[in-house]
Amino acid sequence: MRLSQLFVPTLKETPKEAEVVSHMLLLRAGYIRKLAAGIYNFLPLGIRSVRKVEAIVRQELNRAGAQEVLMPAVQPASIWKESGRWEYYGNELLRFKDRKGGEFCLGPTHEEVITDLVRGEVRSYRELPLNLYQIQSKFRDELRPRAGLMRGREFIMKDAYSFDVDEAAAKASYKSMYDAYCRIFDRCGLQYRPVEADTGAIGGNLSHEFQVLTETGEDSIVSCPSCGYTANVEKAELRVDTTTVAAPAADLVQVATPGARTITEVAALLGRSPDTIVKTLVFVADEVPVLVLVRGDLDVNEVKVKVALGASTIRMAADREVEAVTHAPVGFAGPVGLTTRVLADHSVFAIEDGVVGANAADAHLVGFCASRDAAGAQRVDVRLAAGGDACGRCGDGRFEFFRGIEVGQVFYLGTKYSEPMRCTFLDAEGVERPMVMGCYGVGITRILSAAIEQNHDADGIVWPMSLAPFHVIVAPLQLKEPTVVELAEKLYSELGALGVEVILDDRDVRPGVKFKDADLLGIPLRVTVGARGAAEGFVEVRRRGTAADERVAIDQVVAQVAGRVAAELGDG
Ligand code: ATP
Ligand code: MG
Repeated sequence: MRLSQLFVPTLKETPKEAEVVSHMLLLRAGYIRKLAAGIYNFLPLGIRSVRKVEAIVRQELNRAGAQEVLMPAVQPASIWKESGRWEYYGNELLRFKDRKGGEFCLGPTHEEVITDLVRGEVRSYRELPLNLYQIQSKFRDELRPRAGLMRGREFIMKDAYSFDVDEAAAKASYKSMYDAYCRIFDRCGLQYRPVEADTGAIGGNLSHEFQVLTETGEDSIVSCPSCGYTANVEKAELRVDTTTVAAPAADLVQVATPGARTITEVAALLGRSPDTIVKTLVFVADEVPVLVLVRGDLDVNEVKVKVALGASTIRMAADREVEAVTHAPVGFAGPVGLTTRVLADHSVFAIEDGVVGANAADAHLVGFCASRDAAGAQRVDVRLAAGGDACGRCGDGRFEFFRGIEVGQVFYLGTKYSEPMRCTFLDAEGVERPMVMGCYGVGITRILSAAIEQNHDADGIVWPMSLAPFHVIVAPLQLKEPTVVELAEKLYSELGALGVEVILDDRDVRPGVKFKDADLLGIPLRVTVGARGAAEGFVEVRRRGTAADERVAIDQVVAQVAGRVAAELGDG
């Protein structure tokens, strides 16, 4: 491709909308353009990199025995009602009606569709196992689309679904997909960790996320250096400390705390440290309000709250709901004197002379002792794990904390969908049984963001060879010199003939502009053709991300560059 003809609208300035470096560089280097919140156009370079990720995913899934299909983006409500998720999925599900009033949604995921497909076609254990996948645009009406491709509303996902005769076979399918995922993310050049994960809206009880480690990640991960246990904080099991204050240290007394609503404000006003203050949160679980208490310097884990309550839905209460429960403005909630159900984290029972909201405007209670003043509370572990916490698996190590970007997730589903949707088969004895399922997602477009977060410098993107839209850029420096132009054209066509994906920077611009753009776009190898080298028999080759040009003899450069591309692409 000649750069003069390539549709690559680069930007000099950092776009205002960009929050993280990958978003900024995808815009600046002309890979994507926004159409609406969380909805993007992919320009020629962008879609080329998307296709690179897709090709890796296809190869590895085909190798693992999965078969590609393509399901519709538009799905009828009827199958979602059968699985029970039409109500449960919430506002991320974009619902609409057709001209006849039929209810539909845009697919955020495809468990229902695939289960419907397979139940209609597969009858016998002889037709199992089956693993089907697709690569397709998903739509989720995310509350906060952000960071470009990182959290879009429309994004490309690979989703795969396995069907097996029993749990053992389904776990083997899970393991084979887990291994395929490791190969996929290795080949994408990502530094990642598989971590134990919660199963969220998808359901099931065994799951791993593949997390790309970077500071800008939205997810929090803890890992035990002692036993290696690694989990999303939502899921992480910590060693519970059941220290309990034996006897109250003081009487419960109401004090004025005008305008002090947050832990920090209350701590500052009363001259206390946050770990002596009790945080009271109001949740609504299956439409019933619940108070949840945790020590002021800690956070509540919503997943644990949901499990402790056995609730099927949970959310934070809206301000007016908090006011209805506490009869006070938001910021002054506490467990004393209310009839609402209370869950109290173990951490609260170790506070001697605590502070809680008084359920009255501008007031708190001091002298709080949970075993006396919240005696009716259900004592549970509902706190979020953090760095420094003791590991719940081995009990020894202290958690280390990481941030991550989830690029993939694998779930063992069991019969969560096959049972309600009656996706069954006849076993060898002729007995009808539900199929045992797994599902497996890869965020194709999110991978581009994650890869750039891990691979960039001040000048632009530094692609791993496997994801780069082109492998090589040939930059002739003096377009007035026929020897330079001829040599550049020759290298361009010879590299292309060997299957190397190459750009010729045929623009009549200064060398500095050529170098800057090549760096911004992130093309892994740059071959610079100058007048002096052309006369003396060499060109210069530079790997993006390194500072050194290597002189290579003209008659060797094509073989050397092609060899280097192949070596970096690995076993493809
Ligand atoms: P998240 O927790 O980030 O919202 P999720 O757990 O809901 O993601 P899954 O249902 O597991 O997502 O989807 C499979 C993969 O699709 C994820 O691992 C992620 O890489 C990708 N993905 C999910 N939501 C988005 C999004 N809004 N934008 C881009 N990629 C996404
Ligand atoms: Mg997920």
